[in-house]
Amino acid sequence: MTLGFTYQGSSARIVFGNGASAHAADHIEALGCRRALVLSTPQQAKDGEALAGRLGALCVGTFSGATMHTPVEITERAVAKAAEVKADCVVSLGGGSTTGLGKAIAYRTDITQVVIPTTYAGSEVTPILGQTEGGAKTTLRSPRVLPEVVIYDPELTLGLPVGMSVTSGLNAIAHAAEGLYAEDRNPITSMMAAEGMRALKEALPVIVASPRDAEARAKALYGAWLCGTVLGQVAMALHHKICHTLGGSFDTPHAETHAIMLPHTIGFNAVAVPELLRPVAEIFGGSPGQALYDFAKSIGSPLALSDFGLKESDLDRAAEIATKSPYPNPRPFDRAAIRSLLQSAWQGVRPPH
Ligand code: NAD
Repeated sequence: MTLGFTYQGSSARIVFGNGASAHAADHIEALGCRRALVLSTPQQAKDGEALAGRLGALCVGTFSGATMHTPVEITERAVAKAAEVKADCVVSLGGGSTTGLGKAIAYRTDITQVVIPTTYAGSEVTPILGQTEGGAKTTLRSPRVLPEVVIYDPELTLGLPVGMSVTSGLNAIAHAAEGLYAEDRNPITSMMAAEGMRALKEALPVIVASPRDAEARAKALYGAWLCGTVLGQVAMALHHKICHTLGGSFDTPHAETHAIMLPHTIGFNAVAVPELLRPVAEIFGGSPGQALYDFAKSIGSPLALSDFGLKESDLDRAAEIATKSPYPNPRPFDRAAIRSLLQSAWQGVRPPH
């Protein structure tokens, strides 16, 4: 094999450690900022207020309207709030929804971003921004949306509910698994993918048994950072396309959809690229799709799309949308192949590979 690749790292500063978020003010000041707007969802508004209190005079306001899929009307309200309080940075405290809002504001205003992630979604280290307007979801890639500083504080994830920890963790594993066969993969991203999956494979069962286990929480968040970094650096394929279709057109929940589809899409592609997916086989123990299915089941993940409001009669249209525009995937497919894959995921059966 001849080695040849392009690698583009990100310039974001990554700060990782228990209690690291207590020093958010230092990072804001080091960036030259003095007027922070703290962002959160309504569910984490209290945490946002508490963070604002700790930032003291550095914080000029809070906005707790972040929500799934980054609706443009909410972004516009947040941009107006940032202008009103003359914010020079946003501090996004939460999961992918809150990070998405910060990125959407930065896309429009180039405002500086500090992100404090509290789930395993990984959006904080990707140049990807998904937005919805009038019910339609669009996705863009731009270096403008990359945060300047990401503060990973595992202590903030101790209370992430177990169900969400499981699905969010599997969402992270999906970034890494697809990264292994990405057309533009390189040795660094493949190394990160394997390390990220291994960390999550070890941590998630411990978290299920003991949600406040500090070591497992730190390991899971470390894995999530690595898997998110892979997502940010290489192109995704069939798995992310199908999940995007289901979430965008049928409103299925983000992390659960990834968790359920993962064994089926990876099993499908494993037939074509078993060597590239060898880390999945080794880490999870078995043929990639089946091993991921068994792992997901063992940690109590939802397994069937039918549990999330998707009707069997929706599957034809989902297969049609997911195959409408071409994109690279290691195994060629047609609409019938995707329809059958969706059927298995809808029923929640163990994949054949
Ligand atoms: P989320 O951010 O929507 O969080 C789900 C709920 O959990 C929210 O109510 C949130 O406030 C709450 N929550 C978060 N952390 C918590 C904690 N530690 N304790 C208690 N509650 C907590 O969910 P998510 O899965 O992190 O993000 C999903 C969104 O992120 C989707 O819109 C998805 O499209 C986007 N996303 C984007 C990228 C990207 O690269 N652009 C990557 C992954 C996900």
